[in-house]
Amino acid sequence: MKARYWIGLSAAAAALAAWMKAARPVPKRYRLNLPSGAGSPDLQGGSVRFIGTATTLIECAGMTVLTDPNFLHQGEQVHIGYGMHSTRLTNPAMDFEDLPPVDFVLLSHLHEDHFDKLVERQLPRDPPILTTASAARILKRRGFTRTCGLRTWDSVFVTKGEATLRVTSMPGRHGPLLVSAFLPDVMGSMLEFRTERGAAGYNVYVSGDTLLIPGLLEIPQRYPHVDLALLHLGGTRVMGVLVTMDAGQGIQAMRIISADHTIPIHFNDYDVFKDPLDNFVRAMKAAGLQDKVHYLRHGERYSFGVRTLYTTTEAATLQSH
Ligand SMILES: [Zn+2]
Repeated sequence: MKARYWIGLSAAAAALAAWMKAARPVPKRYRLNLPSGAGSPDLQGGSVRFIGTATTLIECAGMTVLTDPNFLHQGEQVHIGYGMHSTRLTNPAMDFEDLPPVDFVLLSHLHEDHFDKLVERQLPRDPPILTTASAARILKRRGFTRTCGLRTWDSVFVTKGEATLRVTSMPGRHGPLLVSAFLPDVMGSMLEFRTERGAAGYNVYVSGDTLLIPGLLEIPQRYPHVDLALLHLGGTRVMGVLVTMDAGQGIQAMRIISADHTIPIHFNDYDVFKDPLDNFVRAMKAAGLQDKVHYLRHGERYSFGVRTLYTTTEAATLQSH
C-alpha cells in the first residue's frame, strides 16, 4: 500500500515537472544593430571597470556596456520600497557626466541602488536599456524609448561592425520565495562577445541581485565555459531578511558557475549591505579559491584577452541565432 502510494506520488511529481517544463514559454530573441563607431576597435580583448555598487563598464570588441548605473555619493539615500531607505557609504569612481559613450545599459532590476534618481533624470532617453520585462514597462512609462524587456533565457543579438554580442537573461530571485513577491523581478545576464567571425570570444556572467537559487544550476548546463563572473554580493538584508548573496552563498555560486575568473561587486557601498567583502576574502582563502578571484577597488580595471574558441559549438550557436 505504502509502495503504491509512493509510486503514485513520484509519477505525479514527474508529470508536474514535465508539465512545468513544457509550460515554459519559448525564449524570445531580439536584435539590436549598433552603428559601428569611428576608428578601429580592439577586437583582441576588453576590460571591466568597477565604478561602485553594481555599476561597471564592460568594454569588449568595440562595445561598451554600462551595468546597473548608480552615481549617487556618500551620504545620499535611495528608496528601496515600502517607505524604506538606504544610505550610500561610498563615492562612485566617476561622476555620471564623465562617463564615456555607452552602447547600451544592462539593468538587472529596478531598485534605486541600481538605477538612481540622478541617472533617471540625466540619462538620455534613447540609449537601449536591456532589463527585466517589468522594469522595461516602468521605464517606458517614464519616457525611455528603447527599453527591451527580457524574461529568463530571452536574448538580444547585438551587432556592431565586425563584432557580435549575445546577451541572454539568466535566472535570478531577489529574496526568499515569499519575500521576493514584494521585491522587483531580477535577472542575471550572460554576455557572449564574439569576434573574428565567431572564432574568438569571451563570456561574461553578471549575477544580478539574486540569492543562491536552484535556477542557477541550469546555467553551467547551457554555458559550460564562462570566462568571467561578476557576482553581486553584499549580503543585503531588509528587515533582517537576506535578499542578496553573502560570502557563503557567493562561494557556492562561484562553484556552480565555475568561471575562469570571478570579480565580486555590490558590497560595502550601502548600509543595507550587511556582509562586508572581508568575509568573502576570508572564506575564499579558507576554500582555497583565492586564485580564481580578482578584487577591484572603485575605479580599478580588470583587462582580459578574447579566447580562441577551439570547439566550434560556441561560435555555431551564435551564428544560428
Ligand atoms: Zn542591490
